[in-house]
Amino acid sequence: MSSLDALFFPKSIAVIGASNRPFTIGHRILTNLKRYGFAGSITPVNPKGGEILGMPVAPSILEVEGEVDLVHVIVRNTLVAQTLRDCVTKGVKVAIINTSGFKELGPEGARQERELVEIARAGGLRLFGPNCQGVMNSDPRAKLYANFTFATMSPGHISIVAQGGGVAEVINNYFGMNGVGQRMYASNGNACDISVPEIIEYYGQDEQTRVIVLHAESFADPREFLERVRPVAARKPVLALKSGTTAEGARAASSHTGGLVEQDTISDVLFDKCGVLRFASLSELCQTAQAFASQPVPRGNGVGMVTNAGSPAIIVTDEVVKGGLQVPRLSPQVADPLREKLQAIASVANPIDMMATAAEEEFTAALQALDADPGIDAMVVCFMTPFFVDTLGIAKAVEKVAAGTDKTLLAVGMTNPEEKVEWRETLKRVRQAGVPVYYFPEAAARVLINMDRFRRLRDRPPTGVVEKVVTAPGTAKIIEQATTDSQGFLAPADAAALLAGYGLPLVPERRVESWAEARAAAAELGYPVVLKASAPGLVHKSEAGAVAVGLENEGRLKQAFDDMQSRLAGQEGLAFLLQKHVEQGVEVIVGGAPARDLGPMVMFGLGGIHVEVLRDVVFKLAPLGRAEAESMLDALQGSAILAGVRGQPPVDREKLVDILLRVSCLLSDHPEISELDLNPVLAAPAGRPTLVVDYRVKLERA
Ligand code: ADP
Ligand code: MG
Repeated sequence: MSSLDALFFPKSIAVIGASNRPFTIGHRILTNLKRYGFAGSITPVNPKGGEILGMPVAPSILEVEGEVDLVHVIVRNTLVAQTLRDCVTKGVKVAIINTSGFKELGPEGARQERELVEIARAGGLRLFGPNCQGVMNSDPRAKLYANFTFATMSPGHISIVAQGGGVAEVINNYFGMNGVGQRMYASNGNACDISVPEIIEYYGQDEQTRVIVLHAESFADPREFLERVRPVAARKPVLALKSGTTAEGARAASSHTGGLVEQDTISDVLFDKCGVLRFASLSELCQTAQAFASQPVPRGNGVGMVTNAGSPAIIVTDEVVKGGLQVPRLSPQVADPLREKLQAIASVANPIDMMATAAEEEFTAALQALDADPGIDAMVVCFMTPFFVDTLGIAKAVEKVAAGTDKTLLAVGMTNPEEKVEWRETLKRVRQAGVPVYYFPEAAARVLINMDRFRRLRDRPPTGVVEKVVTAPGTAKIIEQATTDSQGFLAPADAAALLAGYGLPLVPERRVESWAEARAAAAELGYPVVLKASAPGLVHKSEAGAVAVGLENEGRLKQAFDDMQSRLAGQEGLAFLLQKHVEQGVEVIVGGAPARDLGPMVMFGLGGIHVEVLRDVVFKLAPLGRAEAESMLDALQGSAILAGVRGQPPVDREKLVDILLRVSCLLSDHPEISELDLNPVLAAPAGRPTLVVDYRVKLERA
């Protein structure tokens, strides 16, 4: 028993603020409850009494007979608190507060909203909203339309949760218009008590829900989201569209990593950690949900196509290949017998192009061949409806194959259902066979790409196993005793000690103050060396001419030293650093930045001085597991560079993974670190050391 059962499966409902006037929410909800066939008791409540839609009106919730599971509260916002007190007295289980004028208006509204929550919590009442639409449930036992919109919702397997009512309705209508069934629906506005993650958790436990659609505007409690949604997304697809932005990115950042945190990075890392599939397009999200609702997740990434028109199937091919899927050749054991069954001009390849005259037998044979081919995991049947073909035959072929296959099957139906009854009937029958029909070829392709994304997300190694590669007990003391500049950056020597404490491979280096010291240090390190000047005011050293690389001998070093000293003489706190010059390596960046109350994030990307231009970086929430760290290397646009291009050997991936895991430990152990940059790390091929040649650590001291 969940406390949300009373919300989605109520036995009795009261509408407080019921009205006789047709264009009011208090009237609409009553109409909807009746029209959708709610079988339990419905009581309108209004102090004026009388009758609404033939139902006797109770003057107050306290005077409603029998138990009440669910109420709608539609009274003026100043009366909501008292109404809830009465609901508590009556023993109501859940209140949907449609009334607005709370948190969305500002601090005073937020205070009033908190008061509602206090009343409810003290009285064992759960709240949905305020400032919301309500819920729907198509289960024949529930037949619940507790919402003031009206869109017919036929039973199905897609459950929807959306904070905002507008997008929720767009989604709801799309499914309705396309004959796609839906299961449950919740649009909970301000979500003062029953939260979005709690609803997702409820859908997760609902057997009839096969796919969950989420539209989120903000995360009130990202931790709660992580804890509740992650176990759900491991079992069923959770498809999310996140709109609206957070203020995270607006924060002025003084490190590379801080500057690379985008407005929406938090949502990305959160969805990634949970295994939620994120979408940038609402239509693509809905079309993908449609497929998850009635089709199995493809077992692999091989796509096969059958078509009676060549060009649309080529569009599908181009799109899926771009999306990383395969369009394999047909295996000879299915291709050869198929050739016998098709016309001589048909092309028995992939796509199988059967020409416009192909009818039922040919579609059946071609689809059965794809079904039998071990290289094919998902099938797409593309069809136009030529006037000289019995198009219902195409539908029959699809029905037959759909009933017997355990592979994914989608259709591209390029016809106008308004034009001819037979064509409308064809589309309808394909749909009723559980095969989603898309109009545009690329829509079907995008759906397959997204299903594959889900497959890979679901089958990835568990992200829950944290890799604790290092414990560094002495480092708390280093941080405690460290000096920081006015911005909070650790003095370079302290930063170096901290990083070394975590076993991070810093390039051999010496801090020097005079030429004599520089000369001695260079002799000790061995040429070639790099000379760097540092000062609290120097953020990007190379921009200020404070980095001289590849100094091959003492003469060159002296020249560079004198030059820097004279040019940077005015810099307060000027100091010099001598490093061993590292010959080879791909410049990468490893960083750290906080993700609100989710704790720290680890960043990895192509680094060096152009990191802000390239912006080729990936963030993940710490602490990392080994597989997660590894996946970061493959997540970059330019990850091929790590594998070695233009004759370069591949970088030593193990070393990078090790660095990421060490940084993950460092950030997790020391939440007071607000920004961290290792930029660049020179990633070397196997057999050579991968070294950190520049680093900055910033603290947020309490
Ligand atoms: P900043 O980022 O403050 O400009 P860096 O110390 O990162 O200064 O140096 C800038 C660039 O110089 C690096 O991206 C790298 O290409 C090169 N560089 C710095 N240190 C070394 C080194 N020890 N060996 C080889 N190249 C280096
Ligand atoms: Mg740098």
